[in-house]
Amino acid sequence: MKYSKKSVYKCLGFLCVLCASAVNGFSLDREAFSVTNYDLNLQVEPEQHRLGVRGKITLQNDSQTPQKIAVLQISSSLDWRSIKAGDKVVQFVTQPYTSDIDHTGSLSEAIVTLPHEVAPKGTIELEIAYEGVILLDATRLTRIGTPEEAANSTDWDQIGADFTAVRGAGYVAWYPIATEVANLSEGNSLFEVLGRWKNREAGSRMHLQFTQIGSNEKLPPILFNGVSCSGPAYESMGVTKAGPADCMYQTLRLDAPTFVIADYKVLERPAVEVRYLHGHDVAATTFADAAEKIVPFITEWFGPQREKAKTADLPDPHAAPFESGALLLTPLTSDDPKLAGLAAAHQLTHAAFVSFRPWIEEGLAHFAQALYLEREKGRKAALDYMGLHRSALSEIEAPTTAPKSEDEVHRSLVNTTGEELYRSKAMCVWWMLRDMVGDAALKKAIAAYRPEQDKEPSYMPRLIQAQTQRDLEWFFDDWVYRDRGLPDFKVESAFSSKSTNGSFMLTITLDNLGTAGAEVPVIVKFAGGEIMRRLEVRAKSKTVTRVEVTGAPQEIIVNDGSVPESDTTNNVFKIEAMAEK
Ligand SMILES: [Zn+2]
Repeated sequence: MKYSKKSVYKCLGFLCVLCASAVNGFSLDREAFSVTNYDLNLQVEPEQHRLGVRGKITLQNDSQTPQKIAVLQISSSLDWRSIKAGDKVVQFVTQPYTSDIDHTGSLSEAIVTLPHEVAPKGTIELEIAYEGVILLDATRLTRIGTPEEAANSTDWDQIGADFTAVRGAGYVAWYPIATEVANLSEGNSLFEVLGRWKNREAGSRMHLQFTQIGSNEKLPPILFNGVSCSGPAYESMGVTKAGPADCMYQTLRLDAPTFVIADYKVLERPAVEVRYLHGHDVAATTFADAAEKIVPFITEWFGPQREKAKTADLPDPHAAPFESGALLLTPLTSDDPKLAGLAAAHQLTHAAFVSFRPWIEEGLAHFAQALYLEREKGRKAALDYMGLHRSALSEIEAPTTAPKSEDEVHRSLVNTTGEELYRSKAMCVWWMLRDMVGDAALKKAIAAYRPEQDKEPSYMPRLIQAQTQRDLEWFFDDWVYRDRGLPDFKVESAFSSKSTNGSFMLTITLDNLGTAGAEVPVIVKFAGGEIMRRLEVRAKSKTVTRVEVTGAPQEIIVNDGSVPESDTTNNVFKIEAMAEK
């Protein structure tokens, strides 16, 4: 068996000796298999921070070649106990695998020698057992310099006596995954690895049986993805055992399956269910009220609710909110109805509208937040809110130079795994589309969307195109199918002449120096008022327009902030007072 010196040095210490014989000589394809089915029994002991798992998983060979080796990864704080195939114990070696896909920054990897080769597309069922603890651990963040407090408020997952919340892939590998290394210090590496894994898992099913063990007489219910699934509790020899409780089968889509155990109070409303911790009654009520209030508005845009929106409280007031489908985990601390409404708009959109394409599902949920702000406080408030997202966007989009061709496709909205793109950029794209086609047409297109019919990236664009006479292909090409960067508008020149009736005819030449086209609002300020026109300017193109105004023109402003742009310092054009003719 041949193996390079380098690979020996890579796996340090005694583990090297263990794994060398079994592993080296093969180049490990960690992403060869996906897990298409999970059927797991979980035993959770919150007071001991413990998790024990027994169950079955089905692996599918996604690669082009037969596979004899499968890699299974769980959080580094968990240990593999046994792996069997059809009642036979299979050979496996374990090793730590450094990867930021888990909060501990490392995985317990089992390299499994399967009893036989699995052909491409073929499957094999394994019986697995593993156990350990899940403690608060933000190693992956602190080791790249994140201050501890902030890191703990981001990676807040743990099993604990007072509060248990554990999120799935991307946070805690509490069920087996199979991924290449993800590194937080390397740009988008984590997003990409996680995105690939979630795509491979999108059709997977998960069936869980939960058993909870504790010393209290009453054990709080377990929530799995926001749904309570507790079984009967009984007491024996000083411990209380609740379960096993059946947690529904479901396809994973792009969610991170999440379980929570907390002594929540529940506030039930027709559209939303809010679970809150002791003392948070006011914030919970504020949230529920705000959500109920905007249901008709969300329904009008995104259709009736498919399911109740579910919100659950987090004890750390600074904890980063987390969402998985219609479930929102967030600290319920604010009694500001506007903030609550903003969060609820996003969540209710998820409860009403489903797509497995992030630019549609997340883009629309963020778009809903901008719509909500516009409705509450006017267009300016919505544009300011989008401005927060836009600044993140112009940081990652290269100014004026077009992205490289492979990036164009890779980073396009239809393919991207980058959150800034499928959240911030997608929100702006939806807003621009709405400005171009109007509310009624866009609502109809959204209402016509059927996730099960969405087989092509062009499905949604075609639904929108069907509602308008306008050609939008260029827009989808620049913004959705490809990442062509951003526009950069500039008024090249403006001439005005006074007509005999006293009005002024202004001729404006608008230049788009950028690499993506857009329809942009142009505002002309003149003595006594202002007027707005919308102009379509393709990438690297100019357009000329004539505007009649009733007073002497003073200033031209391109872009009210609704179009993301790489450079906004050249957007105001002053018109010199001109000599009377
Ligand atoms: Zn969302």
